[in-house]
Amino acid sequence: MLELSLVMVKPHAFNKKKLGKIVSMLEQNEFSIVGLKSIKLSKELARRFYFVHEGKEFFERLITYMSSDTIAAICVQKENCVKDLRKLVGATDPTKAAEGTIRREVGENVEANGVHASDCIENAKKEIRFFFSDIELFSFQYLDY
Ligand code: UDP
Ligand code: MG
Repeated sequence: MLELSLVMVKPHAFNKKKLGKIVSMLEQNEFSIVGLKSIKLSKELARRFYFVHEGKEFFERLITYMSSDTIAAICVQKENCVKDLRKLVGATDPTKAAEGTIRREVGENVEANGVHASDCIENAKKEIRFFFSDIELFSFQYLDY
């Protein structure tokens, strides 16, 4: 089934000009870009995005990091998108991420691990809504020219 998921390019990856590489890895792996924007999150917005981790020891540091600089939000579409994206993104710790994964390529440490990817269909829907309105999302199709 065609699904959508959300990728967020984290501050250090955006700052170090890895956006193109990340988009390229997504496209090379059959993900279609159906929404794309870059913004700087406020602490309040970062807290809202990562609310499931509230109370964990790394939470406040993560919020400070995620609101420190520009991020990019990318909505992608593909068959089996949510699972395939998590696979392409790789393990949370970049040193444990498999060869060829985005985190292995652009991650620096557990916190600055390059990208966020939605972990299930339900969260993907919520996270896409967090960043995008209907008119900012388009349905991808191969054009006949
Ligand atoms: N994180 C961290 N320290 C940890 C665990 C997680 O800084 O010990 C950060 C990391 O950037 C991760 C995010 O919190 O991407 C969300 O954690 P989660 O366990 O959901 O990992 P993910 O789903 O991103 O692989
Ligand atoms: Mg997660």
